[in-house]
Amino acid sequence: MLQYENDDRAIARVIASLSEGETIDHGTARAIAAPYNDYRTEHFVSTGYMPQGDAEWLMEAICRGVDQTALDRDREALGALRVYLSEREENGDTGRVDGWSDMWVAKHVDYPHEPGRLYDCPACESECHCIEEEEPCVHCSAQFEGA
Ligand SMILES: [Zn+2]
Ligand SMILES: [Zn+2]
Repeated sequence: MLQYENDDRAIARVIASLSEGETIDHGTARAIAAPYNDYRTEHFVSTGYMPQGDAEWLMEAICRGVDQTALDRDREALGALRVYLSEREENGDTGRVDGWSDMWVAKHVDYPHEPGRLYDCPACESECHCIEEEEPCVHCSAQFEGA
């Protein structure tokens, strides 16, 4: 049975790796919102549907009743979630998302390895980790094989 890094670490890593203007993916957004699940946010957590198509309403629902210590601890993750939701609202893309229930933040297998070097590691395979002058990363190698 493979062990994976924990959700918080994976979320922090994804956020740190975003480039300018890039937002988190659906799976990461779901992983951030899930621990805050209550009856008003469960639609979003289970289907990706944004009630009322309103990012601020959903953020308010997520954060209400949560104590300040937890909000401070998750400040960066919640900030990234707000940007993600606002972008979906602006794009009018607030409905259910196909495949949503299988989505989650991509996590590295909890076994020491260089990012991008371990086959069957979801986080390694989720994006390019190529370093110049070295062999292609597993993400890119898989694409060559599929081509
Ligand atoms: Zn990995
Ligand atoms: Zn690559």
